[in-house]
Amino acid sequence: MRIVLLGPPGAGKGTQAVRLTQHFQCPHVSTGDIFRTNVMQGTRLGEIAKQYMDQGDLVPDEVVIAMVMDRLGSPDCAGGFLLDGFPRTVAQAEALDRKLAATGTPLHAVLCFEAAEEELFRRLAGRSAELGRSDDGEETIRHRLEVYATKTRPLVDYYMHRRLLSVVDAVGHVEEVTARILDTLRAALARLNGGANGSANGSRPDRTVAREARTAARAW
Ligand code: AMP
Repeated sequence: MRIVLLGPPGAGKGTQAVRLTQHFQCPHVSTGDIFRTNVMQGTRLGEIAKQYMDQGDLVPDEVVIAMVMDRLGSPDCAGGFLLDGFPRTVAQAEALDRKLAATGTPLHAVLCFEAAEEELFRRLAGRSAELGRSDDGEETIRHRLEVYATKTRPLVDYYMHRRLLSVVDAVGHVEEVTARILDTLRAALARLNGGANGSANGSRPDRTVAREARTAARAW
């Protein structure tokens, strides 16, 4: 499975990503985690990323895109992956599309996590107290939510037009949300299957993705 998790900070993408990657036995590619590891290790990439992360801004596209393209080229991503926190801009989504089109391995689904802004703020403020993350101060939290609204939310339309988007209500117990996501994915795969079987062009990626969707559905 090749899945993208989209959604504002605090929506629980990271928590659900860990559960989903256990379920699907695929790598969890979290750009936030990769940056935090680099910051901790004091690498040059970490130095660059930290300046933006601390302000609640996005790391420049060219830096993120190069890093993710490199990661997706690793052998462990050949059988599928779960992207958490990428893409976050239209330029990143376009770069991902180009990469996946070149290898004939398109996405199966994009899940957009939704929660009310007050709920997101409450969760992020709680996490700040618990983990002491430098990008979870009150003003930075507000800024990150604004950045999501202006730079990342346009991806909802982007993926809706490509018929890949499924919206998930991200409020509730962790287990409840996971069950909801799995139901949503099942429906998305069934759609993909039906759509590709009936598609007029029957292009190779369409047929490949339908075959993979059938295999994934059987494995459930
Ligand atoms: P996250 O843990 O996904 O909330 O990411 C933490 C921070 O890392 C973000 O606030 C950004 O500064 C940076 N970051 C993570 N992913 C991206 C991305 N795809 N594009 C730009 N910046 C990113």
